[in-house]
Amino acid sequence: MKENNQAKNNNAWLRMNEEETAAAYILGTQYLDFLNRAKTVRETIGYIADTAMNNGFIRWDSSLSIQPGQKLFIEKKGKICALIIVGTDPLDKGINMVVSHIDAPRLDLKPRPLFESDELAFLKTHYYGGIKKYQWLAIPLALHGVVIKPDGSAININIGENPEDPVFTIADLLPHLAKEQMEKKMSEAIKGENLNALAASRPEADQEAKNPVKEYLLKLLQEKYNLEEEDFTSAELELVPALPARDIGLDRSMTGAYGQDDRVCAFTSLQAILQVNSVKRTAMCFFADKEEIGSTGNTGLQSLLLENLVTDLMQSNGQADYYKVRQCLANSAAISADVNAAIDPNYPEVFEKMNNSFLSHGVVLTKYTGSRGKYDSNDANPEYLAALRQLFARHEVVWQVGELGKIDIGGGGTVAQYLARYGMEVVDCGPAVLGMHSPFEVTSKADLYMTYKAYWAFLQEF
Ligand code: MN
Ligand code: MN
Repeated sequence: MKENNQAKNNNAWLRMNEEETAAAYILGTQYLDFLNRAKTVRETIGYIADTAMNNGFIRWDSSLSIQPGQKLFIEKKGKICALIIVGTDPLDKGINMVVSHIDAPRLDLKPRPLFESDELAFLKTHYYGGIKKYQWLAIPLALHGVVIKPDGSAININIGENPEDPVFTIADLLPHLAKEQMEKKMSEAIKGENLNALAASRPEADQEAKNPVKEYLLKLLQEKYNLEEEDFTSAELELVPALPARDIGLDRSMTGAYGQDDRVCAFTSLQAILQVNSVKRTAMCFFADKEEIGSTGNTGLQSLLLENLVTDLMQSNGQADYYKVRQCLANSAAISADVNAAIDPNYPEVFEKMNNSFLSHGVVLTKYTGSRGKYDSNDANPEYLAALRQLFARHEVVWQVGELGKIDIGGGGTVAQYLARYGMEVVDCGPAVLGMHSPFEVTSKADLYMTYKAYWAFLQEF
């Protein structure tokens, strides 16, 4: 097989044999199920944990020493997790890690969300991550999350995913009365403070009630979920599109769903590590939180959590001295498993076709991201890229180069820069997405398959 960039045909569908094409569709079907069951960070962790346990991984804690060949599952705070296959090489030789993120743009409920106005009850939201606000209007929204009661008990909420469930929505302004609104800049037409989701309209029978609709809603929340109004202050509740994942196109070649940035990488890396056999270098899939808001907080990769995890692992064998932990991290190789933007023929003006990625042209190697002259970017070393080219050629992984749009148009970032600070080699690598950060993102099943293959080859053999 010729290398991708020189090959006559760059379309992955044309470069897969029948067997691989069938495998891409099968993976696509599993992927739909995953997307429907894992819409939040915590739900994704649950899915990964179940899958790992069913495939011979054991839940690790620091009381267990580690041995080559072990398959370990580690979870922290219900927000991040890692799957590890311990290699025969000592840990200070480094880890091959595929690092994805499992948070996605959404509408979080505010700590005091409930109010009534004109006999309608609403939930105030504060959006999370980069959204185009108008995309969240006039669609069904499901409420997912957890409420922690003062006694520490958790109430899990999931309303709006079953066809019989009610949903929430943010009504949009009718075109008849939107003349002024339509003349505004798109970024200003919808205000964050107006993203209030409709939650109830039926009043409490009590004629004396001050906010009868809100009070009736509170009564229902009490009856059905044992929730008091104050409990919203210790909750993590989010509104996500109540749209199931679907095949797109008559050829069913694409997947449409919410949250594919970056669950497409989480899913493919999970599937990849399940197929990894005994390894020389330790292999790890790491699933991070908070990427969409800059990898902040104690579950984001700007924290010391990766370092702490390596320290924990090495300490279980009595090897966690400062030097060895640093050696492990510096000698590691990482794939920052994240998506890139696919060229959209409806918006050719923002793309540079020689260096941006196409849907169905395979997994994308993104040397650097950033904006305003690569600011805030990792910039992968050519030696590392060359080694990956060779790996992908050996395993017939269809891949392409990628940059995020034209230089002066905008930009973005990933976790790559936070992995690079340890000295490890790192590059962004994942599929291209149409409509990124929208409630219904689009990926190609050929790319899904090639991403899986790329991650597998990396974990197994790099
Ligand atoms: Mn991402
Ligand atoms: Mn993103």
